[in-house]
Amino acid sequence: MKKVILHIDMDAFFASVEQRDNPALAGRPIAVIGSNQRTVIVSPSYEARRFGVKTSMTRHQAMLLCPEIVFVTAQSDKYAYACSQILDILQAFTPDIEVYSIDEFFLDITATMHLFGSAKKIAEAIRLNIHDKLGLNASVGVSYNKLLAKFASDMAKPNGIFILDRDNIDDVFEHAKVEQLCGIGKKTCQRLNLMGIQTIGQLRQCSPGMLEKVFGVNGLLLHNMANGVDLMPVIPIGSSDHVKSIGHSMTFQQDTLQAKLLSRYLLELSGMVGARLRRSGLVSGCVRITLRYKSFKTFTVQRALPDRTDDTKKIYHTARSILSDIDLKEPVRLLGVTCSRLCQQSQPESLFEQDNRRYKLNQTMDMINERFECPAVCFASLLGQQEHKKVISPSWQPHGKRNY
Ligand SMILES: [Mg+2]
Repeated sequence: MKKVILHIDMDAFFASVEQRDNPALAGRPIAVIGSNQRTVIVSPSYEARRFGVKTSMTRHQAMLLCPEIVFVTAQSDKYAYACSQILDILQAFTPDIEVYSIDEFFLDITATMHLFGSAKKIAEAIRLNIHDKLGLNASVGVSYNKLLAKFASDMAKPNGIFILDRDNIDDVFEHAKVEQLCGIGKKTCQRLNLMGIQTIGQLRQCSPGMLEKVFGVNGLLLHNMANGVDLMPVIPIGSSDHVKSIGHSMTFQQDTLQAKLLSRYLLELSGMVGARLRRSGLVSGCVRITLRYKSFKTFTVQRALPDRTDDTKKIYHTARSILSDIDLKEPVRLLGVTCSRLCQQSQPESLFEQDNRRYKLNQTMDMINERFECPAVCFASLLGQQEHKKVISPSWQPHGKRNY
């Protein structure tokens, strides 16, 4: 049976929340930024976008384009709360909801659509509800798979509904740019452009064999995407394959090459990741660290764990051993720790006494930190460290971070 999928995408989400909560900002060009000095723009308002201000620009670049722009520091808790309120609204229409990011949701309404009339009626009701209850605008894309629903919500922006189905897909795709397809990033787009392929219509003309020759297995994926084929199901919240990895990263106030300082940050990040694993009842089989140099060159290195774990110290030791094997070429700007190969914790008690002591230590620290809002208790080596506020990641999800 043909599925009916909606993609809900909030319009200029962080900026809209700030404008809603501070009437002095309404109707003005604003940009939400991170709290540290070297931050970039996280979310420009539509008024600022009209001047050409875009996500990821520096403040300086934004000010050149729009001298009257107002910068507002991100308040992550507020956006996470708004996200949970949106989720409450969406749950009235179907239980099959995938939180794709803090302001994007996929809904599979195939089974519940008949209760409300039509996909269009549901899309209208969702937009109206979000607007009336939360004072925020959402755009909704309607189609028969996730790839196309996401494409459609982009067409619907701002503040609209777009239905992409078999009647109009050929016309719409003919002149649409290849990069409008979710999954075609900058590099792939550049390579396609070099081959003289700018539009999805042109990509459709390429034989799958030719694409495979150039792009390997991804060539077939590109061929499918150009033809609107996507078999990925909506992965509802809480389903077993929902969380693929759990990670945290931080951008430093100042780039650093100091091994001691980097180790401390690794411990802090490992603690955050470990606490999240334990809260979700998960254990990890692989630790990955992400490093971004001053020049923005970014890379990741991962290492398998001998046994699956949720223990902060084990995660930290692995992360540190990865870091010590890296010959740092430049000062580090950003550091991240991610645990992947996750599975449910089956038996917390181990055969080894030392593991049990660690288990109890982690459990006690988590309990105290949850009660007193973390971090009330932390490892001694983290004491005295300057606290840095973190901006919520766009791939934030209620149970971790999206990693697909
Ligand atoms: Mg959005």
